[in-house]
Amino acid sequence: MRKRIFFNSEKGKMRSFYIKDNVCTPYKLILNRINNYLMANDMVPTTNQSEADVVIIGTCGAFKSLEDEAVGFIEAARTGMKSGAELVVFGCLPGINMKRIRPFSPNRVIPSFNWTDVKALIEDPAVPLKDIPEATGFRGKEDHRLYDPGKQFILLQTGCSSDCPFCPHKLGIGNLKSVPPESIFYQIRNLEKKVHTICLAGNDTGSYGTDIGTTYPELLKKIIGEFDFQIHLSQINADWVHVYRDELWPLLMDKKVREFQVLIQSTSNRVLALMDRKPVVTGLKPYFKKLRVSRRDLILRTDLIIGYPTATEQEDLSSVEFVAEIFDEVAVHGFERVKHARIEKMGLPFYSAAQIDERVEKVMGYLRRFPHILAHRGGQVIRTLEAIEKPKNELRKRLNAGFTCKDRGQDAE
Ligand code: SF4
Repeated sequence: MRKRIFFNSEKGKMRSFYIKDNVCTPYKLILNRINNYLMANDMVPTTNQSEADVVIIGTCGAFKSLEDEAVGFIEAARTGMKSGAELVVFGCLPGINMKRIRPFSPNRVIPSFNWTDVKALIEDPAVPLKDIPEATGFRGKEDHRLYDPGKQFILLQTGCSSDCPFCPHKLGIGNLKSVPPESIFYQIRNLEKKVHTICLAGNDTGSYGTDIGTTYPELLKKIIGEFDFQIHLSQINADWVHVYRDELWPLLMDKKVREFQVLIQSTSNRVLALMDRKPVVTGLKPYFKKLRVSRRDLILRTDLIIGYPTATEQEDLSSVEFVAEIFDEVAVHGFERVKHARIEKMGLPFYSAAQIDERVEKVMGYLRRFPHILAHRGGQVIRTLEAIEKPKNELRKRLNAGFTCKDRGQDAE
């Protein structure tokens, strides 16, 4: 690691910083807050990496494609920075694969699970980080899949309460840390008048509050009761939907709730057990089907993992059939090995990358039979996340215009 360099620009000249990242929503919000912290302490943002005194690269390591992209950003920064500038590597890649970062000798590494270490970027700050409000938007238009200033993000928590043996995210983000309810309500109350939609964001939002004596349904009930925004619920592990199914039901019946993202990963109880998840997904089917009928306008989203160690083709196909019956959008992820993940020591046989690719192709082919479903490969194909937002808006319009379950080709009862 290079010797730590504090800001050493000429006396009297304001120090500048540059940020580039490929992180997901919670950490984009945090990067925006970091941006505001640096500006509040007399640093100036620049869009020119080569003139910045501090270059911050926000890194994701969820998939090989994103890891490669993040490493490319670090490499470009290291070669394009001016002499004496400080390179800061921020985000999840440090916790997931530090080996990829070391060759670039960053001056400072700030992992997602210790993100408040950014405080140290300013010596003796005039405005401390705790006085910088949580950000509800991203730093720039280009950070959005589809820019809509009327949609803002409320960060509920970072980290994750589960310990799934295969998960790269957990290595990067660490344990659950909930944002106090008073801070969440402060953020929502202070949104601009043009805001019509709030996305309740986080890595494992269903676990919200279990570390600070409250719960996700309690929070959601208060938000629905106090505010009139349209609400998108994101990143909820199916285990939490099962735990809170009764409390969530009346909240999901409220028309303010417009999107519900439940991450099922698989329907096989055997595979779910190997993922250290509860065998609850197929048991939730009647619940989802009733929800489908009761809230025809609600967008249901999910994620699947295909080719998990020992998962048979039939088990994967059953998961996909389940999704096709219930959901409007699915991110299909081919299983990827992560060197430091616990699953590497579980003695399970792994499918080859080619076998998994072949399975994912079959799954995508199957899902193409359902043109009303937005199926994509998520972060494994970098640009898909942008590409799905337009069709999703079309879907929203169709649902608002009375598109029904029957139109989805379903006969949900
Ligand atoms: S590893 Fe996961 S939590 Fe971390 S930035 Fe990437 S997607 Fe987000």
